[in-house]
Amino acid sequence: MKWLCLMMMSMLLWTLPALGEAIEGEAPQVNSAEGEAKQAQPAEDAPEPVWDDTIQQSAVTPSAENDGEADDPDATPTPVPSVVMKLVEQQKPLTGIKVGIDPGHQAKGNNQKETIAPNSKTTKPKVSSGTAGVVTRIPEYKTVLEISLKLREALELMGAEVYMTRETHDVNISNQERAKMMNGYGVDLVLRIHCDGADNRAKHGIAVYCSRSNSIAAESYRACEAILPAVCEATGAKNNGIVSNDNYTGQNWSTVPCLMVECGFSSNPDEDVLLNSEDYQWLLAKGLTQGIIDYIQARDGE
Ligand SMILES: [Zn+2]
Repeated sequence: MKWLCLMMMSMLLWTLPALGEAIEGEAPQVNSAEGEAKQAQPAEDAPEPVWDDTIQQSAVTPSAENDGEADDPDATPTPVPSVVMKLVEQQKPLTGIKVGIDPGHQAKGNNQKETIAPNSKTTKPKVSSGTAGVVTRIPEYKTVLEISLKLREALELMGAEVYMTRETHDVNISNQERAKMMNGYGVDLVLRIHCDGADNRAKHGIAVYCSRSNSIAAESYRACEAILPAVCEATGAKNNGIVSNDNYTGQNWSTVPCLMVECGFSSNPDEDVLLNSEDYQWLLAKGLTQGIIDYIQARDGE
């Protein structure tokens, strides 16, 4: 499992810059199958992938070949060449960036009320119980934590410092408290990770939400504009657009740019299965990470 994760991460590290070039080059809309084929191979003018075997073997199975063989000098792990390490360093575009991840909900909802915004008298439950897969029956709080943990790995690989509101299910943290937690960390951006639900089972796709009226509304909207197309391209999911309103406690209380990602519909049979598959969760993590890189680079004028 660990080996698989590292492999996935290695692939991610390698494919992300090529993906970035494809997006910046305003490539025509491609369907997901073509998009994947493109990402599987580095662009023709990309540098040789000199590091693949060396890094994976020395990092993952340093002594595997030594089992049962005494004193084999060839089995000593080869140090990663400095030229390779330099390449890896250059591919950490989120170095110095703090990203918050709020995996939505928790094992048990909390129906006590809290105000939905500073200076508002309107209240909502502190944290609702969320949706569940129509086929898998897996509750949203589990799905979104799995996606969030993969997103953390991808972001850390890109050099980001990542803060989580929760890493387990057995917590009791209201949406207002989650926002204040991230405000306190002073993150550059917060992603609230959720799954959608609808009575109409045919509904599918990804949407992002941000506040419309608070102090960080404009900056949050800019983050949405970068992240939504990137995650739709990576996953092949339908783009359901950006929604800005003042209905969500977690966004309204935020003083740092903040958006909610509805990663797909748990109420759609196909998307439910996808949302709970390891492969699709990695695609979500990869697309969100690429979107965050795009946002930060646009923000910083690079
Ligand atoms: Zn939710």
